[in-house]
Order: sequence, then structure tokens, then C-alpha cells
Amino acid sequence: MCGVFGAVVPGGEPTEAAAIATLGLFALQHRGQESAGVAVSDGEQLMLYKDLGMIATVLDERRLPSLRGNIAIAHCRYSTTGSTIWENAQPTYRQGPRRAIAIGHNGNLVNTRELLSQLSGGRARLPASTDTELLTALLADEPAADTVEALQRVLPRVRGAFSLVILDQRRVIGVRDPHGFRPLVLGRLPRPEHAAGAGYGAGLFDDDAGTGWCLSSETASLDIVGAEYVRDVQPGEIVVLEAGQPPRSVRYADADPALCVFELIYFARPDSYMEGRNLYEVRRRMGEQLAQEHAVDADLVMPVPDTGAPAAAGYAEASGLPYREGMYRNRYAGRTFIQPSQGMRHRGVTVKLNPLRAVVAGKRLIVVDDSIVRGTTTKRIVEILRKAGATEVHVRISAPPIYHPCFYGIDTSIETELIAATHTEAEIREFIGADSLGYLSIRGVLAALDLPYEQFCFACFDGIYPEPVPYDAASRKFVLEEPVGAARG
Ligand code: SF4
Repeated sequence: MCGVFGAVVPGGEPTEAAAIATLGLFALQHRGQESAGVAVSDGEQLMLYKDLGMIATVLDERRLPSLRGNIAIAHCRYSTTGSTIWENAQPTYRQGPRRAIAIGHNGNLVNTRELLSQLSGGRARLPASTDTELLTALLADEPAADTVEALQRVLPRVRGAFSLVILDQRRVIGVRDPHGFRPLVLGRLPRPEHAAGAGYGAGLFDDDAGTGWCLSSETASLDIVGAEYVRDVQPGEIVVLEAGQPPRSVRYADADPALCVFELIYFARPDSYMEGRNLYEVRRRMGEQLAQEHAVDADLVMPVPDTGAPAAAGYAEASGLPYREGMYRNRYAGRTFIQPSQGMRHRGVTVKLNPLRAVVAGKRLIVVDDSIVRGTTTKRIVEILRKAGATEVHVRISAPPIYHPCFYGIDTSIETELIAATHTEAEIREFIGADSLGYLSIRGVLAALDLPYEQFCFACFDGIYPEPVPYDAASRKFVLEEPVGAARG
């Protein structure tokens, strides 16, 4: 999973597009913490800065003065193809015979080997080992005169999940794959204050030369940059943003929608909207459904912080039990912070979560979380709560069990790592050490969403993949890091 943002800011300060893209990206930090980057164009030249690390560290104020131009894209990465190395950070950049382009990609392609066989010169030409690098090379090579035309020729050959922001010399272009696995929204920026009275009209929403536009993975980041949500980029659609012009829509494929339901259950921010639904409300209703499906006698309901909170609130409301915060989460312990070794864990070292003993001691707890992947985190949480004096721990999950790997941009690619794929529910309960365990059903998820099943991808829960997937799941993530002969197979 990754976060992408694009901005077109006519009439702004020279570094305003880069600043807005960086701020928009900052609201998407939860979507990827491995690397961050921004690419800008001044109309003639593209400039790019990227590095490994969190957004605030990589894109600090010292970088902005050199990122001049009124169009920009930004990306933060969570790797699903290729290792966490500098070369694999995005945006990617390539100067082709006809165009220079930079790309930020959220999602994962499923026909990377096939596409590699179409690249003249093969893998030796790729400086990085991501599917995005390969796509960038194919687009830069494409002899069509225009980037949009190149996209129309290349995209029909590309399979899998891709929500893209693309930068060429003059435009920011948004693209969503025909299933729309990953979200992408279009927003309208307010005009810069210094432009008022300088020949621009006063209205915020006038589609004139002063109007700025942006693209983002989530609506929450539109709020952060002061932009107004306009609409979703449609599955199978290309949206072209250019200074001084209204957005242009080009359809390159029929839509066959299958938005990742996990975006709504867990990944996206609770203050974002998808499919017209606020995600906090959706998750709260999932908690209500969970209480109906898996009631149990207890003293209080608590979330696994922070993501379990809305569902725990809904569970508490529906069950009539009090809601308490039974654990404190250290929000500053990112993925790159020191991870305790097995030995340190045995000594009781916990970096992120600490129980509130005054809340949990002597209590029968219902602990609500949004997923169990490998089971080790849930096991640790149950241990911590028991050690703090909880008399019973009932685990409730506001999603169905994850039986199948995801090939569309979430790093659960190996079936054997998924505890539900290899253990029965009774065995999982025993492994995590809970008194009882209950998962929300697919029917319960749909009732909370109040939307039809056909609109979503539920593949990791029911194994019905909207796009055929490669059988060699274990090698998929590093497909472009295999020896050249193997990767061409
Ligand atoms: Fe989302 Fe699961 Fe489908 Fe992957 S397989 S896109 S995580 S619903």
C-alpha cells in the first residue's frame, strides 16, 4: 500500500505546488512509511527528490526551495514489489526519446513478468526492481507523441492494481485501473489569496485559469490542503490536469469495480470518505454488527489502539457495555524504529502498547481489533492484558478471517503466513490465548457498508480474485530481483 498525491497550482509561489503536494502526502503517511518523494515540473524540466524514511524527515523545508514549478506529484511507499532500497523509492523518473515522466504508484501489478518481456533491452535497463519502474520505462519508450496517447496504448496491457499520479513537463495525470482496487480522488484547490483582485474572479469554484486541482489517495488529505472533494477518478479512467484548464477525462477501459474492502475496514483514515461513506461511521457500524453476531457477557469493551477504536465504540453501543481505553499506544514508534528482538520480548520489552492497569485489572474484557494476520500481535496483546490483571479476554475482530493472500498491493502475499489459512478458529483462539474469539462475517461487513458485494474486492476473505493472479506467490514480491534468466521465464 502507498499514498499518492498530485497538485496543479497556477499562479502560486514557485514552490507552492511542491509544498501542497508534500502537505497532502503528509496526511497519507499511514499508507507507507518506508520512503517518500516529490517530483515537480517548471514547464520544461522535471526535478525529483526522494529518500528512504518518513515524510517529515525526507521532505523537510530545506528541500523545498529547489523544487520549483507549478505542478507536482508526491508518493510515500510501503513495499509490495522490490526491497526497501533507495532505488525503489518513488516517484520514479525516466527520460525517454519523446518524453520525461515521473510516476507515483499505489497498488501492485500482477503481470510483471509478461510486461518485462515487452521491454526492449529487458531488466538490465531498469535501475530499480519495482513494477512501477518497469511501467515507467514502458511509458517513456512508447513512441506515441503525447503522454495520454502513450497511456492509452500501454495501459490495456497492464494487469493488476494501479492508482497512479503521473507528471510530465506540463501536466499531472491521474489513472485508476479498471477494477479501481485502490482509491484516487479529484479535488479543487482554493485560489491563492494573492491572486484575488489580480484578474481572477472571486468564486472558489470557478473553473478558470486561477483554479488549482489535486489528486489524492484519500479525501482526508484534500481537507488538509484546503481542497474541495470533486469526485472519484473512475476505474478505467485517465484524468488530465493542466494549469489554466478544467480537468479532462479520457476513458481507456470499461469499469469493472472491485474496490479493496480492506481500505474501508482498516487501511484508510477514519476521516476519509469512500463510496460516499465516512469510514469512521462504517467502522462503528461494523462494531455494532460484530456485537450482534458475537455477544458475550463482560465488564467493558476496549479497542486495540488506534485502529480498533471506531468498531469498539460501535460494539459498546450495541451491547450496552461501557467503553474504556485499556491500552496506551506510543504513536511515535514507526516501522523503522528499533524492533525488540525475541530475547527482549521475553524480558517484557514492549515498544508500542502499554496496558492501563487501573482500567483492566479484575475486569472481563472484550477487546476489539480490525484484523488478525499472523496472530503474533494479538497473542502479545492478550498476554499483556492478562499480566495487567484482566480476568477474561474475549477477542472480537471487525473483519472476516484472512484466508487468502493479496496480490493487489497489500503485503500479505504468502498464504502460510496467514494464521487463518493454516489454523481453525478454535486453534487460533488457543494460540492467541483468548477466552473466546469472534470474527465479523462478510454479510456483517456488507450490512455495515449498506452497499452491494459486487462493488468490492473481498478476495483475501473469500478467495474470489477479480483479476487472475500469479500462482508463484512466494516469489512475487521480488520478481524483478531474480536472476535475469529466471525473471524472463
Ligand atoms: Fe483488498 Fe483483500 Fe482484495 Fe487485497 S485481496 S485488494 S486486501 S480485499
